[in-house]
Amino acid sequence: MTTATATPCGHVTATASYPDTRLLINNEWCDADGGKTLDVYNPATGKAIGKVARAGIADLNRALEAAQKGFEIWRRTPATERAAIMRKAAALLRERAADIGRILTQEQGKPFVEARAECIAGADIIEWFADEGRRVYGRIVPSRNLAAQQLVIKEPVGPVAAFTPWNFPINQIVRKLGAALASGCSFLCKAPEETPASPAALLQCFVDAGIPAGVIGLVYGDPAEISSYLIPQPVIRKVTFTGSTPVGKQLAAIAGQHMKRATMELGGHAPVIVAADADIALAVKAAGAAKFRNAGQVCISPTRFLVHNSIRAEFAKALTAQTEQLKIGDGLAEGTTLGPLANARRITAMDKILQDARATGAKVLTGGGRVGSEGNFFAPTVLDEVSLQADVFNNEPFGPIAAIRGFDTLEEAIAEANRLPFGLAGYAFTQSIKNAHLLSQSVEVGMLWINQPAAPSPEMPFGGVKDSGYGSEGGPEAMEAYLVTKAVSIMAV
Ligand code: NAD
Repeated sequence: MTTATATPCGHVTATASYPDTRLLINNEWCDADGGKTLDVYNPATGKAIGKVARAGIADLNRALEAAQKGFEIWRRTPATERAAIMRKAAALLRERAADIGRILTQEQGKPFVEARAECIAGADIIEWFADEGRRVYGRIVPSRNLAAQQLVIKEPVGPVAAFTPWNFPINQIVRKLGAALASGCSFLCKAPEETPASPAALLQCFVDAGIPAGVIGLVYGDPAEISSYLIPQPVIRKVTFTGSTPVGKQLAAIAGQHMKRATMELGGHAPVIVAADADIALAVKAAGAAKFRNAGQVCISPTRFLVHNSIRAEFAKALTAQTEQLKIGDGLAEGTTLGPLANARRITAMDKILQDARATGAKVLTGGGRVGSEGNFFAPTVLDEVSLQADVFNNEPFGPIAAIRGFDTLEEAIAEANRLPFGLAGYAFTQSIKNAHLLSQSVEVGMLWINQPAAPSPEMPFGGVKDSGYGSEGGPEAMEAYLVTKAVSIMAV
């Protein structure tokens, strides 16, 4: 049940019930040892809406013990049975998508339509991995000695420690959880303290689907305290993290020190190259929509618009007009297409970026500041003539700011795309097959979308290069990250 009211600053706010979140250990929801909690806030109002249990070392030790026991059970569960439980959990997630979506919007801010779609897409990802788990094949290698049979066996790596962020509380978990469970690993997740209840509702689907105790676990607390404790533990065999590059480098260093396998899905700074021969209307529609999805708090969000100077003015005008159509408000309110930023830190970051962009000569075509004083609303902003020295062209903005800059040759645009240490997603618009080939061979990213918005799917690899991390969270490559290879030779005696 949702009710809506207008606030003094003009946007509509909505309220719905929001649950407190506890820790999941051994399929039981429990308070943290000592009863410690953290507050959870609604970014649309700035008000506390609930609490999340804050785990201490005793809780983590219980969770580790459960993950070890869960692994022993799950690794010996046939892939078909694992797939059946995963499919049942996916069906429950789909069935509960609207309820979980409402929870997600209240804690994270994104429009309800996007939140519900995230749950439905999550179910799709779980189902894809469930099926992929049935196809983890080894191989038989002809032996040099005919009395011996040589086998290559794929085995689950072991209990996984996962660290997931607040921007996609469901999606960022299922990409890891799906691959881990399908491979036969148990999975202990430290989910985001800022958006704890939707991950809990996701894991409840697995509990209700009949997953054995210990196979999945969920904890919250102090991120650095938990990661620095869990990663070195002998029980943990694999680490997976999504978040910023600086934190990813810290966790990768700890993982390296303890020889743990790791997947790092880190920050990006996606170039959007709009060539002189691009379909401008398509480029504006596709890249503009992708830009403001989840208020720009997306690791693959288009961030550096590089537009050929012959069409730059037309492109900037059309993008500005499209941006001005966005309806800013509480994500639960009818018709909202741009919610608040997820936390107050993002408002501070946007203000700083804007100040710096103005100081370095950028023109603000629309937006350019905070909206109202209640909640974390920031006007969708388009900047033109952005300097290469501007902060927004060097550090991932992670917010609703589109920055445009012109170029004269495609080679110049490619050089700019590759200038930064990041290499996650990239976009390009051109009607020439020659340009498309050049771009696909030259842009240093893990994912490139040409003439379309981002279209990630579970069957395609998802991950970055350079400072954007390593490993993949999609396609068969994602399964490989949770498997180890064993060579076995059996001599007939
Ligand atoms: P942050 O770097 O402090 O945190 C990012 C995420 O990592 C959060 O979920 C946080 O809980 C977690 N984290 C932080 N320190 C950790 C630690 N020592 N161990 C384990 N987890 C830890 O930044 P923030 O203010 O929350 O977000 C801002 C930046 O983070 C953005 O600018 C963006 O670059 C990045 N980010 C990226 C993604 C992504 O999808 N790649 C998602 C969220 C945030």
